[in-house]
Amino acid sequence: MDSATLARRLVVMAKTCDPLLGKFSEDEKQVVIDLMKYLGADVVKMKVRNELHPSVVCGAYLLFRANGQEAPVSTKWSVEMIQRIKSSRLDESSLVADTVRRIAWARPMDPILLTRDGEELLEDGREVWRSNGRNIDPMTNLADPEDQVIPNSAGRHRYCCGKMFRRSVAKNSFVIYCEDCGLRVVVPNTVTTFRELRKYTTDLFRTLPDK
Ligand SMILES: [Zn+2]
Repeated sequence: MDSATLARRLVVMAKTCDPLLGKFSEDEKQVVIDLMKYLGADVVKMKVRNELHPSVVCGAYLLFRANGQEAPVSTKWSVEMIQRIKSSRLDESSLVADTVRRIAWARPMDPILLTRDGEELLEDGREVWRSNGRNIDPMTNLADPEDQVIPNSAGRHRYCCGKMFRRSVAKNSFVIYCEDCGLRVVVPNTVTTFRELRKYTTDLFRTLPDK
């Protein structure tokens, strides 16, 4: 199922369901589960309020992983999407287009090239953790991650899996370095966001002669 189909299903479902009552049909639950699977989340089940122990405080529902653990970030993200759609005044086709865009944002960024040899920066997230056999909730992006200012904790070194940091080192430049393998890439201060970093390295390596 592609993201436009998933977005359309979510829009139709969100407009008719009542999340505050905690009532969802099996089909409505499946809409949310299919969307989270598309995003790479390990989500297999939705429990609504009356299916949960009374001590569980929840808004509308909770999502669960295959191993039975709660998936709180996936739950929060999907509830926010439903509420955003419910309160929107956009017409249906604009709302579907807006939802497609937000689904794209929720996916991890494409890797960013860092060196001529093809080393890459990954947004800190599920791909790396999965390759390490760990399991975390993905998806915290509620805006386009490409427009984020590169934070001090910049991400992960692809394949190496070391954590990468941003640190100022000179008046006009900073470095992105890997704490595990020692890779160090100097970047001018004119680069502030991930999108600008992607453009900078792509342009740089395009203009360098082939080795
Ligand atoms: Zn590394």
